[in-house]
Amino acid sequence: MNTEYDLAVIGAGIHGAGIAQAAAAGGYRVMVLEQQAVAAGTSSRSSKLIHGGLRYLEQFDVRLVRECLRERELLLRIAPRLVKLTPFYIPVYRQTRRSSWEVCAGLSLYALLGGLHAHARFHRVMRSQWDGLDGLSQDGLQAVYQYWDAQTDDAALTRAVMRSAEILGARLFMPARFEEARLDEHGCEIHFHDNGVSSSARARVLVNAAGPWVNQVAARIHPQPARPDIELIQGSHVILDAAVVDSIYYVEAPQDGRAVFIMPWHNGTTLVGTTETPFTGSDPAQASPLDSEQQYLLAVVQRYFPRATVKISSSFAGIRVLPAGKSGIFRRSREILYATEREFQPRMLAVYGGKLTSYRADAERALNRIKQSLPSRRRLADTRSLVLEPQN
Ligand SMILES: Cc1cc2nc3c(=O)[nH]c(=O)nc-3n(C[C@H](O)[C@H](O)[C@H](O)COP(=O)(O)OP(=O)(O)OC[C@H]3O[C@@H](n4cnc5c(N)ncnc54)[C@H](O)[C@@H]3O)c2cc1C
Repeated sequence: MNTEYDLAVIGAGIHGAGIAQAAAAGGYRVMVLEQQAVAAGTSSRSSKLIHGGLRYLEQFDVRLVRECLRERELLLRIAPRLVKLTPFYIPVYRQTRRSSWEVCAGLSLYALLGGLHAHARFHRVMRSQWDGLDGLSQDGLQAVYQYWDAQTDDAALTRAVMRSAEILGARLFMPARFEEARLDEHGCEIHFHDNGVSSSARARVLVNAAGPWVNQVAARIHPQPARPDIELIQGSHVILDAAVVDSIYYVEAPQDGRAVFIMPWHNGTTLVGTTETPFTGSDPAQASPLDSEQQYLLAVVQRYFPRATVKISSSFAGIRVLPAGKSGIFRRSREILYATEREFQPRMLAVYGGKLTSYRADAERALNRIKQSLPSRRRLADTRSLVLEPQN
């Protein structure tokens, strides 16, 4: 063993890539271990939205929404080929749980948190224009609101962030599986399999950004850090074989009132999601949509777009890491959590949960948490102005 890094990051999902980029921009020496491929985990199985998260206002997550809206604006600027502003429609029916005034109040607060500029504007669609809404059912329809948020390709965005980190000097080992680490007075010693060959390295700080594998990785760190109580929740999406919509529709599932997005997707298809089902398997890589989840999503499309003749052509499932709790899954906070093994000069930081949208701000915050453990280095760049380009 001879290689010394400032940070060793486990996982090249959006959080690992984001922390690697922020650290490399700060001038630190960074290694990243990814067992499979960049964005192989949750970061290719999300709803692919870069959004403030309108519905988090129902949980009063005002800080999260404000930050996500700020990051959305930044990403529209630094990643214009990867993040696209898109019209979103919210239909309100006689039977839906959220009334027209509640939706209007939520959108007003959303606009306020978005700084009231052009992308924060919303309006009520005139009744005379309803026929132009992709065949949206008008049975019981009372109002339709249009606002703006953004759509991305999550895997492409993650690859772009990882590439940016590499350009700044981060070293990506892939496929490289983290095996174990020992924390000592100078930092940590990491053992991994690099392309099947046993290897090791030293780092000042180990960053556990293994997404739904976070506690499996934590269990291999000695001495073992406390592991927060979490629940793994599966969210499934289906891809329909034809285009149902040109814009994004944010609807209430008639079955249980949960929010579901119906979105245009690549090659004239439609992406629909998501569900929330406790994941009980032992390996997150095995997550796959249940038949009942697929039928649930298809029923939502049939309710709102009864004229669409579509079939499910494929499906995928991602896993959310949520703090364990008594409140319903849908109501639990989506705020990211960091865990370190000690308050002062931590040698390990673990990332729990988080949003694709706020990865950059979250990465800067993670770096701040461990900065007292890192040597002083000359900053190379600022992540707020590093342009992100799609990779081939
Ligand atoms: C269904 C769903 C929909 C979502 N929709 C949105 C959305 O629309 N907008 C939004 O902003 N956010 C959304 N999110 C949240 C967002 O997608 C996630 O927070 C984010 O992708 C998690 O990224 P991550 O890097 O933490 O984890 P992951 O992307 O899972 O990355 C972890 C990586 O660690 C690697 N790894 C694990 N163990 C090891 C090991 N031992 N050695 C080496 N590598 C290892 C894995 O291979 C994986 O690549 C959604 C989440 C879900 C589940």
